[in-house]
Order: sequence, then structure tokens, then C-alpha cells
Amino acid sequence: MKLHEYQSKKIFEQFGVPIPKGRVANIASEAKQIAEELGGRVVIKSQVLVGGRGKAGGIKLAKDPNEAMKFASDILGMEIKGLPVRKILVDEAVNFEQEIYLAIINNRSNNCPMIVASASGGVDIEEVAQLSPEKIIKYNIDPLLGLQDFQARDVALSIDLPRVYWKNFIKILHGLYHAFWETDSTLAEINPLVITKDERMMALDAKMIIDDNALFRHPDLIEFRDLDIEAPAEVEARKYGLSFIKLDGEIGCMVNGAGLAMATMDIIQQNGGSPANFLDIGGGAGAEKVSAALRIILSDPKVKVILINIFGGITRCDEVAKGLLSSIKQTKIKIPIVVRLVGTNEELGRRLLCDSEILTADSLVSAAKTSVLLATGGEL
Ligand code: GDP
Ligand code: MN
Repeated sequence: MKLHEYQSKKIFEQFGVPIPKGRVANIASEAKQIAEELGGRVVIKSQVLVGGRGKAGGIKLAKDPNEAMKFASDILGMEIKGLPVRKILVDEAVNFEQEIYLAIINNRSNNCPMIVASASGGVDIEEVAQLSPEKIIKYNIDPLLGLQDFQARDVALSIDLPRVYWKNFIKILHGLYHAFWETDSTLAEINPLVITKDERMMALDAKMIIDDNALFRHPDLIEFRDLDIEAPAEVEARKYGLSFIKLDGEIGCMVNGAGLAMATMDIIQQNGGSPANFLDIGGGAGAEKVSAALRIILSDPKVKVILINIFGGITRCDEVAKGLLSSIKQTKIKIPIVVRLVGTNEELGRRLLCDSEILTADSLVSAAKTSVLLATGGEL
């Protein structure tokens, strides 16, 4: 789950990372009021979950409250990389001498957190990484020991940070590391971390990505989820505890088990079709979950056939069959449904289906072949 800048800043602040004064707004007049409170000069910052807002015109420096209102209204009307701007952050403007890049990421190759730092932070960090990779410092942290002071000093040294800032920098790096660790993040990034004209250090931008699989441990963070930017089908799926990912094909898939779902998509593809989604209904999915899953698949107008692949272990085939039948009654499904149903109570399950229009297949390959044929307009 990606967090907005204003949300990440809130977390950083809790962990002792200094941030500019500011507040979030969703109408231009509010921006004017905040600017007045902050003394006039402010930055208006679009809150969208993409990088490079500065270069896209989504960050503007206003010299007074009236200009703040004008920029706020401009930015609130913008779309950045396809995303509409619904909120802006109004922060006090800060004058700075230097922009530093500082982040903690997951180093998947070494199974540990890694510090990434550069003295040349700012909006061109991607170019710096490409053209002069030696300017980017990487430093692995032992997850059991955590960040040690000597390591923080090493980082300060390797980005040539003047000694007077070390104490501050080490405190900020510890704060960032704790923010990353305590929230189960996969990324906690400050770009830029600035050295101000009056010799302070401050995070002007903030970005965090929380590991979705750890969200259950952070009920307070779940509220940060921005439902506006998520596909409605994915929001609905989460409500029912279904793992759903929308894809571009025409064969809707409903499968129990992630591995089996992936195998199903592979077999569809090998037989000349393309899956419309990944959907794992999990083990022990009852009739209600199955109905929800069908509704979600059907909400995609591209879907021409639904392929249901159930290996009944904990999930009993007769339960699945009942769910299918009741859901078909409710939703008036007009497209063909092909079911491969094997495992616990398969006989019972198939018998329940045999009076309906559902097609049953005795192997996954034949179910896939039938689905592909029907999706491409062929007849049985
Ligand atoms: P990003 O482009 O999405 O990474 O957005 P940032 O928040 O990093 O802003 C982009 C750039 O705008 C920064 O690198 C700064 O150079 C500049 N910027 C942001 N806030 C301020 C500010 O308060 N004062 C000044 N002078 N520049 C700012
Ligand atoms: Mn930035």
C-alpha cells in the first residue's frame, strides 16, 4: 500500500524526523487560509501516488496567500500521469542549500533492510542513479541488530556530509529506520532531505510503501488506504477476503489456491486464451464468498467466459456448487461457465450442477480448451 506524502510525513514526524509545518486541503480557499496561518510563503503540493510530481507541474511555490489559492485551484484541477488530484498539501516554504536523498528499502537479494543515500538528491535522482551510480551509496543493515550508530556515521561520511550536521543526520536516519521497521514498510524514502539556509535538516518530501501482507498488524494504517485510486473490483474483493488482480484477457477465472490460480492462467494461455483476472477464493470458501467472486468477475465487461477451477480439500465441492447455483439465480449470468470440480464431495457437487447450464469438465486442460473455444466465438 502506497502512502501519500502527507500520510508518510505524519509517520515520519512520530519517529522524530523533522518536517515542515503544513496541512492537507481539498479546496483552494482552504489553501489560502493555511497559507495565512503559515506566514504567506508556501508550497502547494499535489497528493497523488506517483513520483515526479515536481517535473509534472504538481508542486508550486507561492509567494503569498492569494497566489497559494490560485496555484491550489490550478493543481486541484490537474491530472498527473492519469491520476486526478483530489488533495493538496500546503507546507511552509523552506529555503535550502542542499538536497540529499535518503531511503530505507528491502534488499531482497540479501534479505535485509538497506540504506540508500546520495548527496545529489532532488528531482533528478533517477538520472544520477543512471549516469553516475557511484554517487549512490548503499548500505545493508542486519535486521536482528538494527541500525547501529557507527553505520549511520559511515553513511554520513560517505555522502560527504559536513560534520556540523552529523548529529542531526544520525537522529533522522534512526527515525527513518524505525519508521520503516515499525510499520512493516518495504520503502521509506526522503527526497529531498534538505539542509536549510539556517542550518537545519528537514524532510521536504516523504514516501512510504507498507507491505500489504503485514497490514493486519497495523489497524491504524489501514485507514490511510486511498480507495479513490483503487479499482472498485479490488476494493470489493478485499471486503470478502478474496485475492483478486484484474488482468486484460477475456476468460474470467475463479480458483481456490494461489498456486492453482497461477497454473490455471498458464494453462489458459498455453491453449491460446488470456485470463481476465487472477482470483483466489481461498480454502473453505462458502457460498457467500463464491457469489461475491462471481459478481466481481462479471463486473468486467470484457469477460466472455468464466472458468472455475476447484480442487476440493477444505473447500467442499458441493458447497461450491451450491454457491454457484444460488449466485447464478441472483445475477442472471448470460455468459458460459465452465467448471472443473475435483476433490472432496466432487460427485455430489457435479450432480448438483448437472441440471443447470453450467458446463463441467473432467480435467483442467479440457476446461481450458472449452473456455478458449467459447471465448473466441467457437461452438461446442
Ligand atoms: P516529487 O517531484 O514528487 O518528488 O516532489 P517533491 O516534494 O520532492 O518536490 C520536488 C522539488 O520541489 C524538490 O526537490 C524541491 O527542489 C522543490 N521543493 C519542494 N518543497 C519546497 C520548498 O518548500 N521550498 C523550495 N524552495 N523548494 C521546494
Ligand atoms: Mn521528491
